[in-house]
Formats: sequence, structure tokens, C-alpha cells
Amino acid sequence: MSDSDDNANNLPDGQMENGHVPMEAQPSPSNERYSGQASDQFDIDLPTSHRYLGKLDNVTGYAFYDDGEVTTLAAIQTNTLVFPGFTLPLVLNNDLEINMLQRHTLKKNAFVLLTPNKTFKGVFPYGVIMEIFETHLRNDVLYLKARSRQRCRLVPGKEIKTLIGELYQVTVEVLLEPTITSPINCTQLSSLKARRSFQSSEYREFYKYRKYRQYHLSQFPLPGWVYDKHEICFLMDQLIQGLSNYYLIEFIPDDPVQLSYWFVQNFQLRHEERLRIMVTRTAIERLRLELKFLNMKRLICCANCDAEIAQQNNVFPMSKDGVQSNYCNPGGYVYETVTVSKATNFNLIGSPSAQFSWFPGYSWTIMQCRMCSAHLGWKFSSVNLKPDTFYGLAKSGFDVKIIYEENEAL
Ligand SMILES: [Zn+2]
Repeated sequence: MSDSDDNANNLPDGQMENGHVPMEAQPSPSNERYSGQASDQFDIDLPTSHRYLGKLDNVTGYAFYDDGEVTTLAAIQTNTLVFPGFTLPLVLNNDLEINMLQRHTLKKNAFVLLTPNKTFKGVFPYGVIMEIFETHLRNDVLYLKARSRQRCRLVPGKEIKTLIGELYQVTVEVLLEPTITSPINCTQLSSLKARRSFQSSEYREFYKYRKYRQYHLSQFPLPGWVYDKHEICFLMDQLIQGLSNYYLIEFIPDDPVQLSYWFVQNFQLRHEERLRIMVTRTAIERLRLELKFLNMKRLICCANCDAEIAQQNNVFPMSKDGVQSNYCNPGGYVYETVTVSKATNFNLIGSPSAQFSWFPGYSWTIMQCRMCSAHLGWKFSSVNLKPDTFYGLAKSGFDVKIIYEENEAL
């Protein structure tokens, strides 16, 4: 994949001048699985496997860090944010960067992913520790897949040391998810705790003990519903109900922590909103903030001229990770991409190409804004897969505009 500004200089062996790997050099031709088949539904497991990177070797050895543990790791800064559970593909073309990364990740198989702050002029103090789980060096190019494992924050006062180019060394403190408990849990007699649980991630399960809960709540000064609203299952139920207007319910996780991260990966948020979620310490705080964001209606617009590109309800998943995933082009640039079924105000540039396609079986064509010619993303089309057409919008090319804010008394 490429945008129209790809730099074609200093390309490694096996790449064409436009930055793409020629079809015969691609280890995993994207069309092979589908040739001759008529209108198959696209398998949404495929994009998360990042087959366009070719066959990579498994790597093991990541050790989970304890809560509050301070560690020094190599770090990479991209414009993307990856929350725990989601994957990031990387392609490194520079020999010195490859050597440096390999040297610094040899024992721990981990690095820190940093993201820009609100103004994009500095580093945000929170990040994630990424586990490298597949890697391969081919023709002097390092292909790598990493999975976000644990949240962390930069230890104040410690230097962000530049190793080379975009590679750094940082000292971070690991942040674990605290155990979720009911706000009234500590007031319950311990002999009853095991028998009548006030805590559940399932709304239905929660109501099973409703009667006992009401007896218990009668000792508190505020009405019972005030305490109910601070239960994790209440927040989950509200969020899932709201999300079901945009997504199929079977795609939405039913674990509170997973749901809180899935939301960020799937709902169209502004960069500063995602940073606010990144800072939240518990899943309850995260879900409450997300519920607030969910009630703000949004529009996808050109980042350069504000032209409307897509509606919020045009967003749909083409990947198991959700509507928003990270993909890498042969030049090593990571694109956070949102898939939409319909788009408007764009022109197509050049002819369709299947080379390095992030969606096996689909060809891509560059999309530019009709008003200002800024790069927006790619149109994907297939002759034998369903859907036959969709659009991958590059997060760097669009802005999320909030058009209506509903007052939510949470
Ligand atoms: Zn524009």
C-alpha cells in the first residue's frame, strides 16, 4: 500500500520504484485463495493476520510486568494509538534502525509504543508495552508484528533518549487493571459476599440479587438507582445498547475491560478524546467517559478542508479487530485505517492495484479529496468477494467533527 507521496529513494532489493514489492517477490500473493470463487463473503480474520507482510517467524518470551514495576525499554513513536489486545504491523527499511531495535528487544521481546500529545508537538506521557510475536528479516527489510499488552506511563524526570531516528529508550512504570468491585461491596457482611454477589459484569446476573441489594441499599442516604449507576454492568449495558445502533451485537465484547478497549478501536474519536481514555485508571472510569463520547454525534471530514467524507453510520468492520486497524506500507509508514461502506467528495487517482493489499482479494486505488486533493485513503474493490467495494480512510487524512452533543446526566 502507498499514498501518493511515497518516497521511492533508497529502496531495498526487490521493490519497485513506486515503493511496492513486485508480485513475484511477494511471499504471499493476495489473490491466490480466491481465484475462481464467486462472491464469497470476505473473511474478517484475514486483515489481522497481516498476510501482506509475508510469512513471519514466531517469537516467544514476553514476561508480564507487575503493577507499578519500573522498566527501561526501547520505544517507537508513531501517530497511531494501540490499546491492549490489538496488533500493530511494522516494516523497517533502515539497517541501523533494524540493528538497534534487534539489539534492544533481543531479551524482552517488547518495546514501548509512544504517541504524540494533544498538540502533536511532543510525546504523550502514557503509552503501551508491545509484545513482538512475529518477525522476519527479508532482503534487508525487517517485518514485525506486535501486540499491545499493558498500559504504562513515562517515569517523570527520566530522559527520553534517542537511539537512532524514531527509536528511543524510555523508562516506564507499568499500569495494571485494578480489580473491578461494586461501590457498595465493602459495606456488605463478609459472610454474605460469597452467596449474594453485588458485583457482576452481566446486567441480568446483577438483577438476580436485586431483592437483597435493595434491602442492603436501604441503609444508605441516597436512592438505590444512584448506586446502580456506578455498577460496571450498568455502564456496560448502556454502552452496548448505544453501540448496537452502529455495530452487530456479536462483534461487541462482553468483558468490561475488553469492551473499554474495543470501544476506542471501533468508535470514531478525536485524538484528544483517545488520550483522555488512555489516562483513565479503571475500566469503570473508561466506560463512563466512553458513554459520554458515544452520545456525541460525529461526522468524518477531510482533515485539510473539512469537506464531509463519510457519516458515522457508514463505518463497518472489515477486520476482526473492528472498524479501525493499523496497517503498514512497504515504506514502513503505519496507517491507522477506518473502513466505511460509503464515502463522498473524493476523486480516484491511478488504476487499481492488488500489490501489498491489506485486504487479501481486494485491489486498492488512491482516494483524494475532491475539494483540496489531500490524500484520504483507498477504495478497495473485488470481483469475487462481498462486499465488492468499500473504502479504507487513513486516520491521518480525516478529522472527526462533533456535530451534536446530547446532555447526559452521568
Ligand atoms: Zn479536503
